[in-house]
Amino acid sequence: MQELPDTAGPRTVAVVGAGPSGLAAARELERAGHRVTVLEEQDTVAGKCQSVHLDGHAFDLGGHICTNRYERIARLLTELGVATERTSRYRVLDPAGRAVRQSMAFLRDGSLQRYRALREREFPRIGEPGLAHSARALAAPVARWLAEHGLRSMADSFGTGYAAAGYGHLDDDVPALYFVKYAEMTGLLDPGPELLGHPGDFTVVGGFATLWNRVAEELKDVRCGVRVTSVERRADGVRILTDSGPVEADDVVLAVAPDRILPVLDATDEERDLAARIRSNAYHTVLAAASGLPEDAFYFLAAHTTSRETSGHCVSYHHRYPDSEVRTFYSYGRPGDVTSLLREDVAALGGRLEEVHLRREWAFMPHFGSADLTDGALDRLDALQGRHRTYHLGGLPAFELVECTVAHAQDLVRRHFPPAQGTLTRQGLGPATMEEERQT
Ligand SMILES: Cc1cc2nc3c(=O)[nH]c(=O)nc-3n(C[C@H](O)[C@H](O)[C@H](O)COP(=O)(O)OP(=O)(O)OC[C@H]3O[C@@H](n4cnc5c(N)ncnc54)[C@H](O)[C@@H]3O)c2cc1C
Repeated sequence: MQELPDTAGPRTVAVVGAGPSGLAAARELERAGHRVTVLEEQDTVAGKCQSVHLDGHAFDLGGHICTNRYERIARLLTELGVATERTSRYRVLDPAGRAVRQSMAFLRDGSLQRYRALREREFPRIGEPGLAHSARALAAPVARWLAEHGLRSMADSFGTGYAAAGYGHLDDDVPALYFVKYAEMTGLLDPGPELLGHPGDFTVVGGFATLWNRVAEELKDVRCGVRVTSVERRADGVRILTDSGPVEADDVVLAVAPDRILPVLDATDEERDLAARIRSNAYHTVLAAASGLPEDAFYFLAAHTTSRETSGHCVSYHHRYPDSEVRTFYSYGRPGDVTSLLREDVAALGGRLEEVHLRREWAFMPHFGSADLTDGALDRLDALQGRHRTYHLGGLPAFELVECTVAHAQDLVRRHFPPAQGTLTRQGLGPATMEEERQT
C-alpha cells in the first residue's frame, strides 16, 4: 500500500461539467476525503456519452467503444459492477457500397517497426495520459507528418476510422498529435492484455450512460439542470453563482472546454488567449430508422472519409441491434444539410431513410492548431493547473476519448489533491493503473 504525505483537512471543490472527466474527478476527490459539488447544465449526466432508449434498446449517441487500452474505464466498470459486452464488428463500405475489411497493411509492411522506432526516439510518452508531453514532436499537420516519415500505410489503416469517428479528414490541417494518439488508443499498435474478458473492443450493456449514472449515484452532491452565471476566484476561495443559488468552494475544476466556460469566467489574459485558440469539429449524430442498408456492423463510408471535400456527408453508421432498423449515423458540419444529405447518402447505398428520431450536434475534439502546439499551447494549459484555484480537464488537455479524459482527470486529482487527514493511504482509492497495481 503506497503511503502518501499527510495533508491538511478536506477541501471543498466545485466541479463544473458532469461528463466523464468531471465525474471521474469528483469520484476521485470524494474517495480522497474531499467535499465535492458537481454542477451540470444539462438535465442528465454523461456529457458526450448520452444513451437513449428506443425500439426496446439503448442507443449510444456519443462515446461508447472501449479498446484494450481502456484500463481506467475497465477498472471503473469493475468497481461499479457494470456489465459489458463485445461491440459490433467494423466494416468499410467502399465507394461502390461493398462491405470490405479495413486494410491493416501498416501492421505487416514494415511500417509498424519504423513507427515504433520513431515513437521511441521522438514521442515516447504518447501512451501516457495527457498530450502536452508529445505535442511539439507531433505538431506538424498530419498529412505532412505521414509523408515526411514514409508512413502512408498508417493513413490507409487508421485514416478511415479516424475520420469516421469525428477527428477530421487527413487533408485537414490538424496536427499529427491527434491522429497518433487516436491510433495508439485503438490498441492495434501494441498487443495489450484482454480487458474484462473481451478479446477485442467492448461496450456497456444497456448503454454507456449507465456507467456515468452509476458514478453520479455514488457521489454526494450532483446538481443537474444548473446554469452557471459567473465564476469568481479570489485569494480565499471560489464563488460560483448559478440560477439556483451560489456555491462556495476552495477550488474549482472546469471539466468543460475552456472556450465554453469563458463567457462566465473572471478569466485572466492567459486564459482568454488560450481559449481563443481552441478549435473543434462540428460533428453530428442522427438516430434514425433506415431500410435496405448493410446490417449488423459499424460501417465506415470510404467515399466520405478520405477528403474534407465531402464534409457534410455521412461518414459512418452503426447498426447495433439486428432486430431493429434504427441506426446511429455520423457526419460533419453544415447543420442545415445533415438530414437531407443523409437521405441522399442512404439512397446512394441502395437504402431508404425512414423516421428520424433525433439529431445531436457536438463541439467534438477541442484542439489546438499546429502553430499553437509548436508555440507550447498545451504546456501553457498545463501551467495553469492549480493557478487561481482552478483546474482544467477534458478533451483539450487529454484527447477526445473517454479513457483519455478519465485517466487525465484521475491523475490530475491524485497529483494536486492529496488525501485529506484520515484518508492517509491509497487504501480504497485504487492504484492509478493496472501496471501500478502489479507493482504494489
Ligand atoms: C458522436 C461521438 C462519438 C464518440 N465515440 C467515442 C467512443 O466510441 N469511444 C470513446 O472513448 N470516446 C468517444 N467519444 C468521445 C467521448 O464521448 C468524450 O471524449 C468524452 O465524453 C469527454 O468527456 P468530458 O467529460 O471531458 O466532456 P463531455 O463529455 O463533453 O462533458 C462535458 C459536460 O460539461 C457540461 N457543461 C458544458 N458547459 C457547461 C457549463 N457552462 N456549466 C455546466 N455544465 C457544462 C456539458 O453539458 C457536459 O455534460 C465520442 C464522442 C462523440 C460526440
